[in-house]
Amino acid sequence: MTGKYDYDLFVIGAGSGGVRASRIAAGHGAKVAVAEEYRVGGTCVIRGCVPKKLFVYASQFSEEFEDAEGFGWTLGERSFSWEKLLANKDREIDRLNGIYIRNMESAGVKIFQTRAFLKDAHTVHLVAEGRDVTADKILIATGGTPFKPASIPGIEHAVTSNEAFHLDALPKRGIVVGGGYIAVEFAGIFNGLGVETTLMYRRDKVLRNFDEDLRDGLMEEIVKKGVDLRVNTDIASIERKGEVLVATLKDGGTIEAGFIMYATGRVPNSQGLGLEEIGVKLKKNGAIEVDPFSQTHVPNIYAVGDVTDRAALTPIAIREGQAFAETVFNNNPIAVDHTIIPTAVFSQPELGTIGLTEHEAREKFGDVDIYKTSFRAMKHTMTGRHEKTFMKLVVDPGTDRVLGVHLMGPSSGEMIQTVGIAVTLGATKKQFDATVAVHPTASEELVTLKQKWSPSAN
Ligand code: FAD
Repeated sequence: MTGKYDYDLFVIGAGSGGVRASRIAAGHGAKVAVAEEYRVGGTCVIRGCVPKKLFVYASQFSEEFEDAEGFGWTLGERSFSWEKLLANKDREIDRLNGIYIRNMESAGVKIFQTRAFLKDAHTVHLVAEGRDVTADKILIATGGTPFKPASIPGIEHAVTSNEAFHLDALPKRGIVVGGGYIAVEFAGIFNGLGVETTLMYRRDKVLRNFDEDLRDGLMEEIVKKGVDLRVNTDIASIERKGEVLVATLKDGGTIEAGFIMYATGRVPNSQGLGLEEIGVKLKKNGAIEVDPFSQTHVPNIYAVGDVTDRAALTPIAIREGQAFAETVFNNNPIAVDHTIIPTAVFSQPELGTIGLTEHEAREKFGDVDIYKTSFRAMKHTMTGRHEKTFMKLVVDPGTDRVLGVHLMGPSSGEMIQTVGIAVTLGATKKQFDATVAVHPTASEELVTLKQKWSPSAN
């Protein structure tokens, strides 16, 4: 311990970034405490990636039951219990929450179950305990929070992803508003669970910043699966009529639904922390400004994860937390590289992507080579399902380096993790081609793409 302060490090927020940073710092001998106002584990574990993926699994069974018939199975009566899914999901989240707490405590980290904010650069106020503690270094790892447009009359009747994990019942009809990955994922979840689902987005295509082929391909597929996709559409107001919510659209139409979920973005959780008062600078959207080592404008205060809005993903928050702890408590400066990030969207069908989109590559390199293929997965030759699998490589013709890989189809998340190693290492198209195919798989297409795509030939 430093002597002058109660702790060497005080972390506000026990999510992906805060947990990793506190454990690593404690491992390097620092005296560490963390304040968490909700549940240890943070968004990803409690109301993000983990319960979302469990819901995705749950929702996929409806298609799997149908597909089984093509392989000779006859299935009996089937029914779905939302209550059972919620109870089993909650049990798993409780288990993970317990593991996180135990791991932190066994690393010697003190956990305060409270909201916390800064009184000055070294003083943290613990709201639930009504007292202050001091620390040499402070790490802000408070994450983000769902955004709901306050200007829409009746918006208080709408839920966000936070509440979607705890809906009392699963209504017959639902509306998901938004075009980001959380919106398309939840539209797939509700649709698969049998809810008549409308996905409503005010722009013309979902998944801004993704490769255009993935955006177009996914929109086509989700419509085939039965989602009522309405682009260039937005809600003007919401009214509750008993159990039913009536959404009046900007074009004057109305839709009735049992729930309306807004997935219209997330904002950094930087308000009410006393940050600006002590000189920590925020960007326009509330994100904390940090240098490559996650240091803010106040030298003893650092920030990692979604609250810095560099790349709002769990593995990035974890890396930033680890790099911070290594830099500050192990004299081992590490700056996280945010330039090449593999990521998945657990939509149905799933997406996997890494590196530059075709559009970005053309802007940066001018001419690029595109290799792409679209096919029906082998399984669906027996199920009769007309679902497309799509794969695309973006290649720099000068160096032959694969600049981007964009996938749509079953297990794309798993595939992009593996092919992401090659792309991160700077693999060339020739090296992809030199890799022996694994047969019969979908991913063998990635190493057998011979024909350069040209707009005129297609
Ligand atoms: P968080 O995990 O959000 O943790 C911040 C913690 O700080 C929270 O526990 C909060 O309660 C606490 N806190 C805030 N203010 C205070 C305060 N003043 N005092 C005390 N405690 C405070 N990422 C992926 O990589 N893959 C996915 O599939 C994925 N799916 C997602 C699905 C959904 C529905 C959502 C919402 C997010 C998803 N994410 C996913 C994003 C991922 O959850 C975040 O990027 C990650 O959790 C960020 O970690 P963090 O440490 O920055 O913040």
